[in-house]
Amino acid sequence: MTCKKIQRRLSAFLDGELDQDLARRIQEHVDSCPDCAAELARLQKVWQLLGTLPPVQAPPFFAARVLAVAKKKRERKSRSLGELFIPRPLLPVAVSVGILAGILMGSWLGQLLMGTHSQASETFVTQVATDFDNFGDLPPGSLSEVYVALASSNNSK
Ligand SMILES: [Zn+2]
Repeated sequence: MTCKKIQRRLSAFLDGELDQDLARRIQEHVDSCPDCAAELARLQKVWQLLGTLPPVQAPPFFAARVLAVAKKKRERKSRSLGELFIPRPLLPVAVSVGILAGILMGSWLGQLLMGTHSQASETFVTQVATDFDNFGDLPPGSLSEVYVALASSNNSK
């Protein structure tokens, strides 16, 4: 593990949140690395200082007010996702298109990395387009229809 990775985990290490194996590896590294040992010592000092601070009294109804704000935010978020950006009936279609795009992107990246030619890709696109055709009726002009059209035109090249 690099010093950077070790130092990112030092706080959890101090807190005893890491599993035994990881904690042992961090301890071994800290024992042999002056930089990380210094960082651990610095963190321990901060923790000790925090421990000496007197507890702060929360203002009245603090928890209730936080919960109220969180609830309001969550309601606003689900409304904007469900109704403002995508009409509700299209939501499942949009999600499937997103997943398919992810799969295609992964396949394309894989080929780029492997350096293989697009024979497999064309078969794959045909397969996905066929699967998607069987998926259900696509509303004209919808994102999914455009997607299938694109996938088919790629295939006919
Ligand atoms: Zn180190």
